[in-house]
Amino acid sequence: MARNNEFTYLDHNATTYVDPHVVEAMSPYWFEKFANPSSIYDISQEVRTDLDNARAEMLNLLGAVKGKIIFTGGGSESDNLAIKGYTFANQKKGKHIITSTIEHHAVGHTCEFLEKQGFEITYVPVTTQGVLDMTAFEAAIRPDTLLVSIMSANNETGVIQPLAEIGKITKAKGIVFHTDAVQIGGKIPIEVDTWNIDLLTLSAHKFYGPKGIGCLYVRKGVRLQPQVHGGSQEFDLRAGTENTAAIIGMVKALSLANRSMAAESQREQTLRDQLESAIKRDIPEIIINGEGAPRLPNTLNVIMKYVEGEGMLLYLNMNKIYASSGSACTSGSLDPSHVLLAMGIPHEFAHGSLRFSFGKVNSEDDVKKVIAVLPGIVRQLRSMSPLWPENS
Ligand SMILES: *Cc1c(COP(=O)(O)O)cnc(C)c1O
Repeated sequence: MARNNEFTYLDHNATTYVDPHVVEAMSPYWFEKFANPSSIYDISQEVRTDLDNARAEMLNLLGAVKGKIIFTGGGSESDNLAIKGYTFANQKKGKHIITSTIEHHAVGHTCEFLEKQGFEITYVPVTTQGVLDMTAFEAAIRPDTLLVSIMSANNETGVIQPLAEIGKITKAKGIVFHTDAVQIGGKIPIEVDTWNIDLLTLSAHKFYGPKGIGCLYVRKGVRLQPQVHGGSQEFDLRAGTENTAAIIGMVKALSLANRSMAAESQREQTLRDQLESAIKRDIPEIIINGEGAPRLPNTLNVIMKYVEGEGMLLYLNMNKIYASSGSACTSGSLDPSHVLLAMGIPHEFAHGSLRFSFGKVNSEDDVKKVIAVLPGIVRQLRSMSPLWPENS
């Protein structure tokens, strides 16, 4: 990142910069290979071939032998296409959807919308560690259950969900299984076939690709209703001239991320663990969210009891340290995270969460910078907090 020496960026779960190799792979598609891939002349056919190859490579990168890749405008659109597209196309078979209490709003709000359209939704709870409650999940399954939508890993806590276990159950029951895999893309290996996933959402800007491009994997035989009507692009499931440069960039980004995954995730986990240990050592009255559960190697979500996340973020910002209080979508709102509340964290503590998400640009220097200022920030905010026990 060009300005990485000017600040400490620890918000990679919100978005990443675009890898220069990705920019380079995209560059022919602005001037030379600009043609509309649906036209019949030679230069269009060249682009068409590149797109077909990109689609095939994406399938391969996801661990799928067959099926379709639908390119979309990002993770939110893919979630909408999966959930609305599948349930609207198959509502004669049933009206029941199972999801969890910790989904990203792209899934949660889509389910709430469907509830208003007459579908019935079961929101399966999670354990205090943030893992789907498998007993409750199995109990939620009904004869008319159409779709299960459970995220692969949570964006706030990094907690990885038991996808293979869920997939075994949905497959045995003949229920279609969608997963929002946005947070695992490029971070841990994706095994669509092994996990029995039928629909899978990805977004490029979470793994060093461009924003505004995503895809939906669709297993063979899974019927969807298009959510964008128009031309017959993307197998008649998503109209609109293909965003060729972004599609090429997305596939390049995932291929690069997969190639360096083993070493890079180990490196980021070491940094994350260093920060986690230092926070435990230097700051009293904290909670590490998702501790003990399988977690993404780059994510640390911590609650500093008796302080507000927003206050800490402002002080960190003054020190040019950029983190988050959880989800990018809820910052600016004063509601505590629905994910932390679902894990049983009391309201008064859920306000005090901070999320640090590491990426390729981070080094031990960044950890040191955070450790140098964070304990002081928390001490100062607590000294002004009416909630801090020593003040009452
Ligand atoms: C970022 C994110 C999304 C949204 O993806 P966009 O491409 O920004 O629409 C959806 N789900 C999860 C888990 C995310 O982290």
